[in-house]
Amino acid sequence: MNDIVDIRAQLVKWGKRLVEKGLVVAAGGNISARVGDTMFISPSGYSISEAAEEDYVPVEISTGKILDDFPLKPSSEVLMHLRCYRVRPDIRAIVHVHPPLLVGIISAGEMLYPFTPDAVALLGKPAVLDYILPTTDELARAVEEKVKSADVIFLRNHGVVTVGANLREACYKAEVAEDTAKSFLAAKITGTLRLFNEDELEAIKGLSSEQYRLEIMRKMQEA
Ligand SMILES: [Zn+2]
Repeated sequence: MNDIVDIRAQLVKWGKRLVEKGLVVAAGGNISARVGDTMFISPSGYSISEAAEEDYVPVEISTGKILDDFPLKPSSEVLMHLRCYRVRPDIRAIVHVHPPLLVGIISAGEMLYPFTPDAVALLGKPAVLDYILPTTDELARAVEEKVKSADVIFLRNHGVVTVGANLREACYKAEVAEDTAKSFLAAKITGTLRLFNEDELEAIKGLSSEQYRLEIMRKMQEA
């Protein structure tokens, strides 16, 4: 029971933060976290900065059933969240937001590759999907395929999905993705962006300092 109280409090905290950071506006975006076979997902129609602890909708992951005759509807992207949890037992949190610069860049047909050590360590190799109608099972299936091998999935003309071992990790990935988009634009305006080669990417992944930081982030208990 304490886990559930705690996870609802975390969802409220990180939901507010994502809006404060400008990663999503109005009633867009959705977040969820898993406790056992239950996911708690933001309610449909609410801004994630306004949803209260008791508004997060409990859904059984194995069946997709909404628990406890809950009065609110889950986010319309509920299928996408369910499919991700089913295919990746290691993830415990999912963030879907619409970061404006990132969305602009990928919707213009560009790919946003991590090009700083921090971004490489956190984002890995992001996947990208061409536009698919939101809230459909077609989108949920496409994201399911990509999340098997990527923690960050760019959705052209739409947004981004990030996953993690906890909400902190999933939210940090969304924040770093949008920061990378800002630096990408600065580089494009200033000159030619240099991307890392394979050797440089491997060397970053092998850094013990980066691995240590990832471990700490995944273990960190929420206040
Ligand atoms: Zn969306």
